[in-house]
Amino acid sequence: MFNRARLKLTVWYLLIITFISLFFSLVIYSLISHEVDRFAQAQRFRIQRQFGNNFFTMPIVDEQLIKETKYRLILNLIVVNGGIILISGALAYFLAEKTLQPIQEMVDEQNRFISDSSHELRTPLTSLKSALEVNLRDKHLTLKDAKTLISESINDVNRLQSLSDELLQLAQYQKPNGHTKFEKIFISKIIEATISKTKPLADKKAIRIHTTLQPLSVFGNFYGLIELFTILLDNAIKYSPPKKTITISTQKTNKTMEISIKDCGIGISNTDLPHIFDRFYRADSARSKETVNGYGLGLSIAKKIADIHHASIIVKSQLGKGSTFSVIFQL
Ligand code: ADP
Repeated sequence: MFNRARLKLTVWYLLIITFISLFFSLVIYSLISHEVDRFAQAQRFRIQRQFGNNFFTMPIVDEQLIKETKYRLILNLIVVNGGIILISGALAYFLAEKTLQPIQEMVDEQNRFISDSSHELRTPLTSLKSALEVNLRDKHLTLKDAKTLISESINDVNRLQSLSDELLQLAQYQKPNGHTKFEKIFISKIIEATISKTKPLADKKAIRIHTTLQPLSVFGNFYGLIELFTILLDNAIKYSPPKKTITISTQKTNKTMEISIKDCGIGISNTDLPHIFDRFYRADSARSKETVNGYGLGLSIAKKIADIHHASIIVKSQLGKGSTFSVIFQL
């Protein structure tokens, strides 16, 4: 598909360049031939003035030479145009690739997103469907069994709902100019909203959240930033054993402002670390723990939000000791 588009674009570039080149060649030809004619005319007048009506001794302007000059001019212009078309053909082909490259990357990314998402949605849907079918065929299904099945199915549906919500969120942050309302926001306001969103989960595990925040502000999208820090704090709680402490702190240098979330949880191994921002990636330690909910989408969403803010996320982690996720904003 992209090869055909590349060829089409090359032809269009070439047509434009050929049109411009031919137009200027015509202009050059008419200007030079006009100059040659003017020169010949001036010569004729000068000769007439010098020799009067003495036709026998009067030298004549070589009309053949003028014709030849014009002919040679046309030939030269044809050769130059041929060269321009050849060189610009090669350049247009190269330029067409460069033009289409970002579009190709975007389409590839979208296709990967669609196939990853449908794969993730298909697995729980298939297991839900087969559980319902098996129980429907069971002639001895009691009311109690049916109720258990319905409540399990509701849990599955809830999980599917949260997966589709996360997918929608990711798609939303992937759109260019999706979240354009930027304003000056105090860090304390963002962290306050983030803590209140994650409080039920923290309370459930008796996890203490300690903050040491400087009175700093950032220019960004309020709801986007709350979402970003909720994902990081939610992970810190999810991957920490009960009764631990999570610390949220800020640091400022001349050029950057950093907000860090430090936990004393399970940590991330060096083999998992490079992949945790990939879509649907879950480290084995998280995957094996059935109790830890998630689809491996949180950090991809967090990265997209950070990108919108021209911020970066840096992770330092030690297996079994804990992790620190830092969001670094450029000032
Ligand atoms: P999930 O929904 O699985 O939490 P994320 O994209 O948020 O998806 O995280 C990807 C993976 O990174 C998680 O499955 C987990 O293995 C690892 N991870 C993220 N945050 C932490 C953390 N604070 N401590 C330990 N592991 C983490």
